[in-house]
Amino acid sequence: DRIDAGWNLDNSYSRLPSIFYTKIHPTPVSSPKLIILNAPLALSLGLNDGEMRSKDSLAIFAGNVIPDGGLPIAQAYAGHQFGQLNKLGDGRVHLLGEQLTPHGGRVDIQLKGSGKTPYSRYLDGRAGLGPMLREYIISEAMFALGIPTTRSLAVVSTGETFIRETEQSGAILTRVAASHIRFATFQYASEFGTVDELRSLADYTILRHFPEAMGAENRYLAMLQEVMKRQAHLIAQWQLVGFVHGVMNTDNIAVSGETIDYGPCAFLDVYDQGTVFSSRDTEGRYAFGKQPAIAAWNLTKFAESLLPLLHDNEKQGALLIADEIAHFSEQYQANWLAGMRGKLGLFNEESQDESLIKGLLDLMQENRADYTNTFRALTLDQPEDTSMYDKVDFRQWYERWQSRLNSEQGTKVDSQQLMRKHNPAIIPRNHRVEEALTSAVNQADYSVMERLLAVLSTPFAYTPEQVDYVNPDDPTACSYRTFCGT
Ligand code: AMP
Ligand code: MG
Ligand code: MG
Repeated sequence: DRIDAGWNLDNSYSRLPSIFYTKIHPTPVSSPKLIILNAPLALSLGLNDGEMRSKDSLAIFAGNVIPDGGLPIAQAYAGHQFGQLNKLGDGRVHLLGEQLTPHGGRVDIQLKGSGKTPYSRYLDGRAGLGPMLREYIISEAMFALGIPTTRSLAVVSTGETFIRETEQSGAILTRVAASHIRFATFQYASEFGTVDELRSLADYTILRHFPEAMGAENRYLAMLQEVMKRQAHLIAQWQLVGFVHGVMNTDNIAVSGETIDYGPCAFLDVYDQGTVFSSRDTEGRYAFGKQPAIAAWNLTKFAESLLPLLHDNEKQGALLIADEIAHFSEQYQANWLAGMRGKLGLFNEESQDESLIKGLLDLMQENRADYTNTFRALTLDQPEDTSMYDKVDFRQWYERWQSRLNSEQGTKVDSQQLMRKHNPAIIPRNHRVEEALTSAVNQADYSVMERLLAVLSTPFAYTPEQVDYVNPDDPTACSYRTFCGT
């Protein structure tokens, strides 16, 4: 007897007005091979992890066969890319359906790199093995860090190559997300749909992600407020771990508040607000320190797309939006400050805390100190491990921090435990990720990646095995650049 793979798919997105998607099958590939499967994630989705390694499942992950209950579509959207509004849509992904999980959840199951769609424009619909494994590694690392994110269920190689700048091995990532409704989905409805179509999308989104907004006097305003709250939380988590998304276009911002679209993202080594990794971001629009302000800008675009639902008077609606977005910065700051207090082992709030935190960050920026390792050294109470140890300014800051800790109710041990929960011992270091990808792509050796994934899965564990992974790249190595569209 065949074992049931566990697919339990619904297709509620396909019941939206047809302007929001196109029914389209993935393009079959010649000789797919399973490169990596996320067994714990499969189990949590109600999928049989053994069956996920079968030929039948491989055909599904490759886009050659549609799972029972699936109905492949590509979603339409129109978002701001580097400030410019463009009509877009899924150019290389297929949404297979929504898996109804054993715990009552509903998550999108999507293939990325699965062939052209009507939204591909001049592009090829394909994705490279390196970039898909990179998304797998970094999204799973984000999950382990406790940061809202899409997940990665599997990567298959296609057995086919395609030409980008150079020849690339093709791959398909199976991505799992609360949904793929983006700010840009609303912008598309607002630009190209009727008000009824916009309302259908908004009501659908409320039912799916913000059911508590149903009872509000103005449910669309309640949705905006909740989306904003989740962005404030998300971006604060990014800043607290030193994550640079790299391409915060409105098509890459999910209303669910999950991190999505792992293209040119990377983690800080040295602490520098101006850090940009993406080769495409020549103006530094999406630099590390600009992420909170960009989030507010994106939220404004999202809110503007809701205008006809928020108010029947355009001027009043615009005032309402400005009023709401004005709260973002304080919400973000509250999230960030709470996280920073945790990183320094502070339980209670004191008015001098902001200045204490800023003092450390300024020292880090001046001394080009490693962000993660500075907090790691403070957590382990080994300040001599920081590159700033010999500086008088740092010693003074350290004394100031120690006396602040002494004024706490909790013991030193309590503070250290708090710090361990807030300061990851390891992050996906750029050179470690590159090393794993090079072995995988050039030598078909996946062991380097498997070891990296294992240590990244418990970033707060402070295990001996992690010590090998804490160092940043040789500082003389040329500065790290990421490329998207590969
Ligand atoms: P991104 O920069 O990854 O957010 O992609 C921007 C837009 O380009 C989205 O609409 C993508 O679906 C589309 N796109 C990116 N790469 C490809 C590709 N290789 N083939 C077709 N469409 C693509
Ligand atoms: Mg995108
Ligand atoms: Mg992308």
